[in-house]
Amino acid sequence: MSAPSEIATPAPVVPASGQETLPVLKRPVASLWGVGPDRAALLGRLGIRTIEDLLLNRPRRYEDRRHFKRISELQKGEPGTARGRIVALGLKRFRHGTKSVFEIVLDDGSARLHCRWWNLPFMEKYFARDDEVFVFGKLIQTRPRTIDHPETEVIEAGEESFIHIARIVPIYSLTEGLPQRWLRGLTWRTLEQFDAQLNEFGWTQEPKGAAQISKPADSAVRSGAPSAKEPPPASARVADLTLPPRKSAIRMIHFPEELSDMEIARRRLALDEFVEFQRQIQGRRKKFEANARALPCGGDNRLMKPFLAGLGFKLTGAQTHVLREIRADMNGEHPMRRLLQGDVGSGKTAVAACSALMAIESGCNVALMAPTEILAEQHFQNFKKWFGPLGVRVELQTGSRKAEKFEETESPVLVAGTHALFSSGFDLPRPGLVIIDEQHRFGVAQRDQLVRKGNYPHVLVMTATPIPRTLGLTLYGDLDVSVIDAMPVGRGTLRTFVRATDKLPKVYDFIREKVAAGRQAYVVYPRVEDSGDKELKAVTAEYENLKRIFAPFAVGLLHGKLSGREKETVMSAFRGNQIRILLATSLIEVGVDVPNATVMMIENAERFGLAQLHQLRGRIGRGGHASFCVLISNAKNVEARQRLKILEDTSDGFKIAEADLKLRGPGELLGREQSGMPNFRFGDLVEDLDLIRQAREIVKIPGLVH
Ligand code: ADP
Ligand code: MG
Repeated sequence: MSAPSEIATPAPVVPASGQETLPVLKRPVASLWGVGPDRAALLGRLGIRTIEDLLLNRPRRYEDRRHFKRISELQKGEPGTARGRIVALGLKRFRHGTKSVFEIVLDDGSARLHCRWWNLPFMEKYFARDDEVFVFGKLIQTRPRTIDHPETEVIEAGEESFIHIARIVPIYSLTEGLPQRWLRGLTWRTLEQFDAQLNEFGWTQEPKGAAQISKPADSAVRSGAPSAKEPPPASARVADLTLPPRKSAIRMIHFPEELSDMEIARRRLALDEFVEFQRQIQGRRKKFEANARALPCGGDNRLMKPFLAGLGFKLTGAQTHVLREIRADMNGEHPMRRLLQGDVGSGKTAVAACSALMAIESGCNVALMAPTEILAEQHFQNFKKWFGPLGVRVELQTGSRKAEKFEETESPVLVAGTHALFSSGFDLPRPGLVIIDEQHRFGVAQRDQLVRKGNYPHVLVMTATPIPRTLGLTLYGDLDVSVIDAMPVGRGTLRTFVRATDKLPKVYDFIREKVAAGRQAYVVYPRVEDSGDKELKAVTAEYENLKRIFAPFAVGLLHGKLSGREKETVMSAFRGNQIRILLATSLIEVGVDVPNATVMMIENAERFGLAQLHQLRGRIGRGGHASFCVLISNAKNVEARQRLKILEDTSDGFKIAEADLKLRGPGELLGREQSGMPNFRFGDLVEDLDLIRQAREIVKIPGLVH
């Protein structure tokens, strides 16, 4: 859509008083010629407040106006751009004037195209007969050729028309009252106007250490990149040699000369974002290390030895290796900040126990935080069993259960709990180590909050969500990473099958057979923990149904609406094998460990993420028996079925997480509640692993490995 052209020629900036002292990039957009208070307010709605914001405003898409389609060539259902002259237009009102449709008819010599806007009568004022118009949209029908609610732009002859036609043009996100053409013109003029000054003001001054390298000769000339007069800094060696300087990249992102320029420019600007982000991470960490001292918690093995002797299995090489890294950290003068990654069932709990003992041997208290009460309770039971014989006190603190007060003089304790562990009123003296299990459920902000509470305890974060490298290097970039990369031996096999609902009777038979042979089973039903009554009814109805189907075997029900005590009762009956088949919501996803359970059936599997399904099936295949996971899905959608097939084919948690990241994005993978997700304009957490690596090289974070 177009507005009367407000500006004919660029004029010099007349900065409001005081603004001339601001660097160009930091000046408000209102200081630009042609931007009055109204337009500045509209730009503000798009988050564009300074000249820098304007220049970094990434186009939503591009239109190649060097080549557009003839109207006769537009295909039904495919987005395309055409241009034509308005030969007819009109507004129709109906339903007593409450509804309307405005229509323009374009002709380009090849055919006619009808463009319609429903219930937007004011569109009328933007068009006139004989206007030349660009149209972008999808044909909904061919007789007559019609597009509903297309994007349009009236072509205006004049000095500036070269900005808008016969080139690849940027299409920006808009807000009501802000014309595309005006914003494009403003961006163009701003780029032109400050071209010279921006050299002085630091556009060519690269983010410290980033690539100071021009593109290969031919494109450098084309995009006007300055030839590098100074020798590139040492760090430039690691940077991508194909990337242009920042200044050229900013021009290219708005007005690419070739289609390939867009991606080149995006990568250059993404690299800058990653460098900036890594610098922040490194800054935080340096500050932390300068201020924080930790209690030495390496231990002396006096409890560890009897613990390992009584454990009933030998630690794997991977577990031992990780423990060595943890001990080195806990002996150091800085508090440990370590992320322990290990696929479901890789034995992170035993590693947590050994780490806890190191701290306890050193005379410090340990807190172990779990995302759910069930898991806190399970850890509590486990650790009591393990540590009781060693004379170490173990306590449980959850929303429904408070631990005893702890005295400063007491011998060290381990407290397992949920968030409540760190809520007000609970104060653990001499906190040596905080272990956070299944961390992605907590979020980065919460993690930082924990850290401040105590007197800089060592922190060990454990997660079974295999974190794709891109996220590991950004979101968790301030943590050292250890990976348990091998499973304990002697595990039974775990096989996964995708089945349609018509196979349910067979699956039930299969479950009954396994239960009759002494095993236990999970039936998982997708339901968010605090959804409405309707879903609760559904899961309860399903429960009655399954009780009938599996009689006389005992069926239990576990969901988020049960009280802490009720959940505990159900779980302990399942652990004790009194409940043979457990119908549960995804509540059981994390950490639950019942080795005798060998079958899992997941209903409506397409409603889960792949990583989440992988977590769920990690509940089985924990003992020596062969285990089976059956994903039930009636998804008509072939893609959804294909997606589930990935789980049939691989048990590699990393591959699954990468696939999930590609399919659903980082927010879904880590849980929506994940805070601290960086918001990159240009950076892409799915695709840009190489750039993230370069950024880390450029910023050089010592000691951080992945
Ligand atoms: P996760 O890493 O998913 O938290 P767990 O710590 O719950 O896994 O361990 C899964 C199962 O493997 C538990 O029953 C645990 O006792 C067992 N386990 C852990 N380490 C070993 C080992 N080295 N050898 C044999 N079994 C082990
Ligand atoms: Mg676990």
